[in-house]
Amino acid sequence: MIRPPGFEGVVFGTATWGDLRRDHQARADVSAELGLPSDWAYLNQVHGVTVSVVDGGGNHGDGDALVTSQRLVPLMVATADCVPVAIEADGAIALVHAGWRGAAAGVLPAALSVLRRKGFVPLRAAIGPSIGPCCYEVGEDVAALFPGNQATTTWGTTSVDIPGFLAGQLSGIVTWRSDACTFTELEMCSWRRDRSDERQVTVAWLPAR
Ligand SMILES: [Zn+2]
Repeated sequence: MIRPPGFEGVVFGTATWGDLRRDHQARADVSAELGLPSDWAYLNQVHGVTVSVVDGGGNHGDGDALVTSQRLVPLMVATADCVPVAIEADGAIALVHAGWRGAAAGVLPAALSVLRRKGFVPLRAAIGPSIGPCCYEVGEDVAALFPGNQATTTWGTTSVDIPGFLAGQLSGIVTWRSDACTFTELEMCSWRRDRSDERQVTVAWLPAR
């Protein structure tokens, strides 16, 4: 697991955990290790901009961002190349799933605006492992959506830097960014690499006082 330095309740899991969306024993084990309840809040991720404000665990329907102000309610998103982003705020936590569609549609600013509207001040953000600009080959149509964040793969084709784009939406917030590329790091799930439905999870929570 990856614990970004300075964060209180953010853990980026790897494939070595198994797929915690469906492996309930593994989820219980990880929960025990982290000192958390095993009833995690999650969504049916649909690459949109819906932000769900939750008070407890379980499935909260379609959406791509979770916010809670309840302590010790673990939030989970599952990814394999898409970008998990956790935001620690004063009195709340947010967790976002952003692939290129969600990023382009504005899921991260949507989550920030929910936090701020509810009076919570974002303190720091962590951008977890995802497919990097080194490997995220896209067509010109997708590249055109990210004009300042176009890049080139290691094999010389057009790519985009989605975590870089998201970092740009976090201006004014101290941001940590993983340098792990899911496509090349074999302990991470990568849909592009394996065409598998296995996912790693990110867990974020507001700690006990
Ligand atoms: Zn890469």
